[in-house]
Amino acid sequence: MDTLLIGCSDGRIAARLQALLDDLGHPDANRMLVPGGPLPLTRPGSERRVALECVREIVEVHDVRRIYLVAHQECAAYERALGGLGFDQQELLERDLRRVKTLLETEFPRVDVVCYMIPWRENGEGAAYGPAVAVD
Ligand SMILES: [Zn+2]
Repeated sequence: MDTLLIGCSDGRIAARLQALLDDLGHPDANRMLVPGGPLPLTRPGSERRVALECVREIVEVHDVRRIYLVAHQECAAYERALGGLGFDQQELLERDLRRVKTLLETEFPRVDVVCYMIPWRENGEGAAYGPAVAVD
């Protein structure tokens, strides 16, 4: 089964994305890394159309049956698109993951979409991205 990971291009999460794919047993999954990960697929008009055509290209060429859709906290692309991080990040990112999952499963009926979140954690040792967690 061929797979595709859609996630943010932010280099700070690259190791977390690779660790997720390793854990899932798909270290060589196709990747579509764009600012905000699912973000362009939530935008109106041409932005969404172009993003969707990129997904279609990968799905059709590689006969993809599963997409791993990954959002992350403290995302600069989201901050820029929404004019600040004053919103409830967790809630908004989870809502977008669910919306994009529905969009992709409607566009590509043979594809199954699984959602993940990479959390930003602050503790005594400092702040860092934690391992990806599944989002229902
Ligand atoms: Zn990001």
